[in-house]
Amino acid sequence: MKEFEIACPVGKELGRSAIIEAAARAMGVSVKAVSHYRILRRSIDARKEILYRYRIAAFKTGETYEDFRLDEYRDVSSAMPVIIIGAGPAGMFAALRLLARGLKPVILERGKDVHARKFDMAALSREGIVDPDSNYCFGEGGAGTFSDGKLFTRSSKRGDIREVLCQLVNFGADPDIMIDAHPHIGSDRLPGIVENIRKCIVEHGGEYHFGTRVSDIVKKADGSFDVVSAGGQVWSSRKVILATGHSARDIYEMFDRKGWKIEAKGFALGVRVEHPQSLINRIQYHGSYQPYMPAAEYSFVTQIEGRGVFSFCMCPGGILVPSATEAGEVVLNGMSNSARNSRWANAGVVVSVEPEDFPEYSKYGALALLEFQRDVERSMYGFSGSLKAPAQRMMDFCRRVPSKDLPATSYHPGAVNAPLHELLPESISLRLKYAFPEIGNRKMKGYYTNEALLLGVESRTSSPVRIPRDPDTYEHTDVASLYPCGEGAGYSGGIVSSALDGINVANKI
Ligand SMILES: Cc1cc2nc3c(=O)[nH]c(=O)nc-3n(C[C@H](O)[C@H](O)[C@H](O)COP(=O)(O)OP(=O)(O)OC[C@H]3O[C@@H](n4cnc5c(N)ncnc54)[C@H](O)[C@@H]3O)c2cc1C
Repeated sequence: MKEFEIACPVGKELGRSAIIEAAARAMGVSVKAVSHYRILRRSIDARKEILYRYRIAAFKTGETYEDFRLDEYRDVSSAMPVIIIGAGPAGMFAALRLLARGLKPVILERGKDVHARKFDMAALSREGIVDPDSNYCFGEGGAGTFSDGKLFTRSSKRGDIREVLCQLVNFGADPDIMIDAHPHIGSDRLPGIVENIRKCIVEHGGEYHFGTRVSDIVKKADGSFDVVSAGGQVWSSRKVILATGHSARDIYEMFDRKGWKIEAKGFALGVRVEHPQSLINRIQYHGSYQPYMPAAEYSFVTQIEGRGVFSFCMCPGGILVPSATEAGEVVLNGMSNSARNSRWANAGVVVSVEPEDFPEYSKYGALALLEFQRDVERSMYGFSGSLKAPAQRMMDFCRRVPSKDLPATSYHPGAVNAPLHELLPESISLRLKYAFPEIGNRKMKGYYTNEALLLGVESRTSSPVRIPRDPDTYEHTDVASLYPCGEGAGYSGGIVSSALDGINVANKI
């Protein structure tokens, strides 16, 4: 077997014969001696001519390629139940692994199934009503369902990413995600995949209970659990996976009340930045953008005054969505469809926040940064009096002057002209003020512009609380057989790493 690279202009087809000829050259054999090949990876190279670069493995007759093999699922209808709280990526992938190991996943989910959930999110954007159990963070598929569906992760040490990608293809995603350097699914495709996962779990004897907000977990004398819903129903099990995501504040508060250990954890907070996608295409493709090319992405990280300032969850050709989970707060996030064809590019641009940065919140103990996060979100709502986002043009923000007017935005509830530079905590506002011109000058000429709109606030970047677990068993450090899992417990960030954490926790069980 020989691996090699081959490039092809974006928009042109890379044909089989071109690959075989390149393979023969790379292997130093005749074309006839090349038996077969696999495309391992595809990435865009926009440094000069805009190219797709392919990494290819070529084989001679008799050489084989080991494809990733998916688990086979068993009928678990009468097996030992394992309660999973939360049907996000962590909960769903934990459930799939339990099926393979012969344990019965019983999923308790506060939100609705994907279809019913869509109506609540439409109402959220249109009428500004936040259902605390059904929104962009809560409901079947978790925060990942109506997201951008970007699937790249740097967390290869957590496990084999191919397992997650392969599962997603198995449940309906485009097979290209297996080779793309920056794989992406899109909000139009994700609900169908999430539904297929549910069908598979139920067909094999697992259970889903929607509209079931867990309000208490009782550890009994025999070591087993009663898991209690807000409606008073009780489920019993010897093992519980807690995969409730980074916005389940009531769960952190429950732990705090019960005296089960939780810890304040650093996260990041800032703004959503929206540029015209055409401008980002021009910058990233150096003026050579053609309509058949994918909408351009960007990412950056810099350091300002001892704290990281970085782009987060960039959505090319995407839209901004209201991601609040409680009434009286404004929170923004981004999503896109598979075609990524809206006329906007948005990204979070956020500043790392550590517990010691805001000592005035230390009185809240482990919930210090959660309370800080909540206060900032409420201050945004306090300014606009609705889900409209306080907003300011980028250069005006950095010059600390009000904007005369605002450009159009994809954010459906709308934007309200605001002195965002004053509304944000000063340590964050000042770092952003220095970061934007730096990015425009050093990394992306044209990025620093008054055509860009900043909207507040991007605050749900990761969990502001950690639920500690034993590094060997993955059980909570105080509560045996309770498994904190995924982003809400502080062990992952994003769809793929949360799914991997779900698999890892199920493996421990
Ligand atoms: C708009 C948006 C866009 C995003 N885009 C991307 C992206 O492109 N790529 C990417 O990798 N990541 C993205 N993310 C982040 C990603 O969705 C999360 O990292 C991931 O979903 C975390 O998985 P999880 O299973 O740990 O938690 P979650 O997905 O948050 O799932 C937790 C689940 O638990 C349920 N729950 C909470 N409390 C309770 C309770 N008390 N009782 C019962 N159930 C409960 C919730 O309803 C939810 O379904 C995006 C997030 C949002 C909001």
